[in-house]
Amino acid sequence: MNTIAENITKIRKTLTENVQLVAVSKLKSNSDIMQTYKLGQRIFGENYVQEICEKQKQLPKDIEWHFIGHLQTNKVKCIIPFIKCIHGIDSLKLLKEVNRQAEKHKKIIKCLLQFHIASEESKFGFSYDEAEEMLKSKDFSELKNVEICGVMGMASFTKNNTQIRNEFRNLAKYYKNLKENYFSNQQSFKEISMGMTDDYLIAIEEGSTMVRIGSGIFGPRNYNKK
Ligand SMILES: *Cc1c(COP(=O)(O)O)cnc(C)c1O
Repeated sequence: MNTIAENITKIRKTLTENVQLVAVSKLKSNSDIMQTYKLGQRIFGENYVQEICEKQKQLPKDIEWHFIGHLQTNKVKCIIPFIKCIHGIDSLKLLKEVNRQAEKHKKIIKCLLQFHIASEESKFGFSYDEAEEMLKSKDFSELKNVEICGVMGMASFTKNNTQIRNEFRNLAKYYKNLKENYFSNQQSFKEISMGMTDDYLIAIEEGSTMVRIGSGIFGPRNYNKK
């Protein structure tokens, strides 16, 4: 098996200039994280609240922490003091809570709207209509401490690359429509977070600006540790 350093070096060579790498370090140790940190990696993605809070306390303070998974409203509070970007905004309720906590800390938190693009039922996220409904609402217009920087989505868990490509293409289309209709004056609305270890090359071809790669860098995860 390759080392973490070899993995990340290899992956970097496949990324185009406009694509940021979020190293997904969930269930991986601080020493694993530090191996990539030493090679200049600064953006790390996690999706368990308790784990990200512990790691944030222990690891260098110039790490940019991204929360990439489903976030429960009652757990927003713990991550706000340090979080840089929340990828999984999937309801107005959650966004309002992020705004409320961010306001307390006098911060503006970068957020991505998660869309349901996969064929599976279980994945979280807005439909395009639901997102529009939120963006048009008075409640949304009053949120001053969140900055919507783009969209995020996960493709179906399948070996059918055509299907994966179509799902990513859909997300890129949602991004483009939202940009034109709601964010044309907002420079920071520029991110499409899509692509994981098995599908990130397709995601880049379809316009991804942020790939979230875990096992491809750190090796397989042991979920029994949770
Ligand atoms: C775990 C996870 C990833 C990384 O998955 P890999 O297949 O290990 O690259 C990316 N995005 C989200 C939302 C995740 O939960």
